[in-house]
Amino acid sequence: MSHADLHTTENTIVGFIGLGNMGSGMTRNLLTSGFRLVVTDVRREAAAEQLAAGAEWADTAADVARRSDVVITMLPTPRIIEAALQGTDGLLAGLSQGKTWIDMSTSVPDVANHVRAEAAERGIEIVDAPVSGMSVGAANGALQIFVGATDDQFASLFPVFEAMGDPKRILHVGRPGAGYAVKLMINQLWFSHLVATAEVLAIGTAAGVELDVLRRSLIASPANSNFLEHDVRSILDHGDYDEGFAIALACKDLGLSIDLSRSVGIPAELSSLVEQIYRRAKRSYGDRAGEMTPFKLYEDLLGTELRLPAEADVASAEAAA
Ligand code: NAD
Repeated sequence: MSHADLHTTENTIVGFIGLGNMGSGMTRNLLTSGFRLVVTDVRREAAAEQLAAGAEWADTAADVARRSDVVITMLPTPRIIEAALQGTDGLLAGLSQGKTWIDMSTSVPDVANHVRAEAAERGIEIVDAPVSGMSVGAANGALQIFVGATDDQFASLFPVFEAMGDPKRILHVGRPGAGYAVKLMINQLWFSHLVATAEVLAIGTAAGVELDVLRRSLIASPANSNFLEHDVRSILDHGDYDEGFAIALACKDLGLSIDLSRSVGIPAELSSLVEQIYRRAKRSYGDRAGEMTPFKLYEDLLGTELRLPAEADVASAEAAA
């Protein structure tokens, strides 16, 4: 297949490694779109639903690569991606001329950079396409996807991305490697918004202002943010700290964005502080606690949960209008 040819359901078998919170929804949507699928995971039970829906099982990453045209990894950390790549059972051993590896994990460019020269010599394409949209977005096929690729690679792989993401939010953000950087910066800013918002809401309410009044005042001010207006509502309305994304992974992402800042030589003073607060929350509430649990640290300091009354929906809608 030439690079600019489309990878369609007719001519492409997709391999998928990592069927966790994200991978399970993504593979369901690839199958629904009509792609043939070969999957693996260290937990075979994670593939039960995909196998029942027609996916094939492979015992190793190398075997996935041998039996697919495009192999997607959706794995927790750079170290695990590296391990899945290398060795006789690894992804690289099974990839050959004309095949593509797409890493959709949140990671750093280094892992792929280590093997880029070897891959290019062997005619293997490497693309990074990290995502946002949480496990809900993965389940609904509505992910935002940040693709680091050449123009040809982006055009050719679009049908594969379209099966998992919202077509309007599948963004070509630059050359290979750029997708990782964009994704890390999005997470970094969002986690910073979370900590800043928790601190402000805790101080303001401790000073005697009603939570709803405080939040509406902030929304009406130049300090408004998407986080304050929308994302924090899952906590304030439902006490939901998003267990679909574990705080252990959030800490991993914050560490990676600081690694990236080091490698490009820009200090990350604020990000480092946010990372420490996240690590404190991970230690306090456990690895599997939701990514928004650092908010709870401030609720603990207050001695009460920050929750809006039910009628705040109307008030907030009016304030935002
Ligand atoms: P997860 O821990 O739920 O899933 C990871 C899966 O990989 C598990 O099923 C695990 O068994 C499997 N696995 C681990 N090592 C393996 C190996 N060597 N070979 C094969 N399988 C292996 O993680 P997740 O929440 O699905 O996240 C995956 C990636 O997506 C991470 O990089 C994360 O940062 C990123 N991400 C997650 C979210 C979210 O909301 N969960 C959102 C955006 C991006």
